[in-house]
Amino acid sequence: MTHKKLISWYIENHRILPWRETKDPYTIWLSEIILQQTRVAQGLPYFEKFIQNYPNVLLLANDSEQNVLKLWQGLGYYSRGRNLHYTAKYISNELNGFFPTSYKELIKLKGIGTYTAAAIASFAFDEPVAVLDGNVFRVLSRFYLEKEPINTTNGKKIFESLASDFLNKSNPALHNQAIMELGATICLPKNPSCQNCPIASNCKAYNLNLIQNLPVKEKKLKVKSKYFYYFHFIKGSKAVVFKRPKGGIWQNLYDLPLIVYDEVPSLDSLIIDIEINFGIKLNKMELKPFWVQNHILTHQKIKATFFQFEPKNQLKFSDELNYSWINQKEIHSLPVSRLFEKYLQFVFG
Ligand code: SF4
Repeated sequence: MTHKKLISWYIENHRILPWRETKDPYTIWLSEIILQQTRVAQGLPYFEKFIQNYPNVLLLANDSEQNVLKLWQGLGYYSRGRNLHYTAKYISNELNGFFPTSYKELIKLKGIGTYTAAAIASFAFDEPVAVLDGNVFRVLSRFYLEKEPINTTNGKKIFESLASDFLNKSNPALHNQAIMELGATICLPKNPSCQNCPIASNCKAYNLNLIQNLPVKEKKLKVKSKYFYYFHFIKGSKAVVFKRPKGGIWQNLYDLPLIVYDEVPSLDSLIIDIEINFGIKLNKMELKPFWVQNHILTHQKIKATFFQFEPKNQLKFSDELNYSWINQKEIHSLPVSRLFEKYLQFVFG
C-alpha cells in the first residue's frame, strides 16, 4: 500500500524536468552527473547547454576535453566534467557508442558510482536496484527511524539494505524517482511537509515526533584555510597563464601564476618567494593588492589576493608548470576555475 501511495503521489505531483521524460541512458547519465552536488535550478541550464552541444554520446566523445571543461565552467567539482568526457570517449571507442545495460557493468565506468549506476540501470533499463542519494537517506532514516549515521561505512551498508528492502521491485524506475522527489520537495531537511506526505501514516519518526533528530551525521572534517597570492603579469596585450597539472580539483584548468600559503605570509617572505618563483625582485611599495576575494570549497576556505604587474625584467618560471604568454582575449575561451572566472569578470567586466 505504501508503494502504491508513493507512486500515485509522484505521478500527480512531480516536477517536469527534461531528463525525467526519457529512457535514454545518455540523457539520464548526463543529468545525473551534472546534478551531483548541484541544485536543480543551477544544473538545469548546464544540462540544456550540454544537450544542445552534444545531443549524443559520440558528439561529446569527439570534442576536446578543453571545450567540455569550458562548457562545465562554473559548476565546480571539475573532476566530474573530466570523467564525463573520459567515459564518453570510452563508450564511443570501446563499446561502439552503446551504454552498458546493467548496474554491474555501468558501475565499472569512470565517474559512475553506486548512486548513478542505480539511477541509470533503473530509469533506463528498469533493473530493480535502489538509488541512495542525500534525499533518499533522509526519507529512509525518518521512515524507518534509523539512527545510524548516514556518513559512515556501517551506516551506508545499513541504508543500502533498507533502500533495497523498500524498493518496489515491480516498478523500480517510478519508485526511485518518487522517493527522490519526496526527499527533494516534501521530506525536507528542515520543516518537512509531513501533512502532505503520502507515506506519513507508516513513517515511524513522524508518528513518534522524532523527525528533527534525523538523519544522524558524524561530524565533518575541518575546513582548512589557504592563502592564494595570484600574479597577473602583463606585457602589452599579453598575460601569463599556465595549465594546472595532474592532481587536485582544478587539474587541466588554466590559471594565473600563484603562490599558496597555509598562513598569511609576512611581506618580506612574500617578496622572497616571488623572487624564487618568478625571478623578479620587488620592493614593498610595488606590492599593492589589486583585488581580494574569498572563495569557499568543500574542504578549503581560500583567501585570494591578486596583484597586477608589468614586469621590468624577464620573468623566470619553473619549467615543470608550462607557463606561457598568451593574448589576454584568449583567456576567455579557456576553461578556468570559478575563482579565476570571478577575477576575469572583475577585470574585464
Ligand atoms: S512523514 Fe514527514 S518525515 Fe516521514 S517521510 Fe513523510 S515527510 Fe518525511
